Amino acid sequence: MKIVSTVEELRHALPFNQTIGFVPTMGYLHEGHMSLVENARRENDFVVMSIFVNPTQFGPNEDLDRYPRDFKRDEKLAREAGVDLLFYPVTETMYPIDMARVSIRKGADVLCGASRPGHFDGVLTIVSKLFNLVQPTRAYFGLKDAQQVALIEGYVRDYFVPVEIRRCPIIREETGLAKSSRNVYLSDVEKEEASQIFKALRAAKETLEAGLEIEEVKRQLTVRLNEIPNSQIDYVELVDYPTLGIASKDSDELLLAVAVQFERARLIDNVIWKKG
Ligand code: AMP
Repeated sequence: MKIVSTVEELRHALPFNQTIGFVPTMGYLHEGHMSLVENARRENDFVVMSIFVNPTQFGPNEDLDRYPRDFKRDEKLAREAGVDLLFYPVTETMYPIDMARVSIRKGADVLCGASRPGHFDGVLTIVSKLFNLVQPTRAYFGLKDAQQVALIEGYVRDYFVPVEIRRCPIIREETGLAKSSRNVYLSDVEKEEASQIFKALRAAKETLEAGLEIEEVKRQLTVRLNEIPNSQIDYVELVDYPTLGIASKDSDELLLAVAVQFERARLIDNVIWKKG
């Protein structure tokens, strides 16, 4: 595995006439990231991973400075997973003059976009830069961040970006807790409590399948999440997927998404319900 940090090095290290699978991350790798690499490995000749904690997707009072980082460990995991090229730039490389940024018109006013203003403009900005640099055949994103995937798909369509976006399933702990770099902020007790989030989502999906009204599903899910100690609900939402518009009886796919704030970590999780 080759490690590069500048644009010039990256351009030299990219192959010609080979399919490139790309896995963008913010590092502190776990099995969720690794599952994206596995998919990329299976479907492409060459696999590129980026590790970059992108400052423009963090709000002023968020955890940019204390976001967990461990490059040595990440490097080892990436190598073992079969990454061919690891791109590890510094901020000045990704934002040489910061004159232009991508802004989203639809779908960023709900869910995490409502709680984190500007977050998805930052995400789309960095994803756009990385796509231009890496020029991947396929790019791999986890449904853990379902809103992010939907917005990236929309961006790729609107801007005619020649890349195939691959959605990958959420990887969980045995308890059901979705793997996340931010889980290190949780105590063992909180981890146990946080595993209730997925159980509540799964139960909500079952009631949806059984034909319960959307508002009632949301209400019951809220009640259940409110029972989790030492935490506070940020949002509980049910939206059409992947449009992120209002959910209705006619929606083919529904996204049930929640964000729950623990003392030191804000956790997100979701389930997607497909009709039929
Ligand atoms: P991050 O490093 O948190 O920005 O995540 C990088 C990529 O890994 C994103 O596409 C995430 O959706 C994906 N990812 C993070 N956690 C998981 C998980 N538990 N299962 C599947 N994909 C994940």
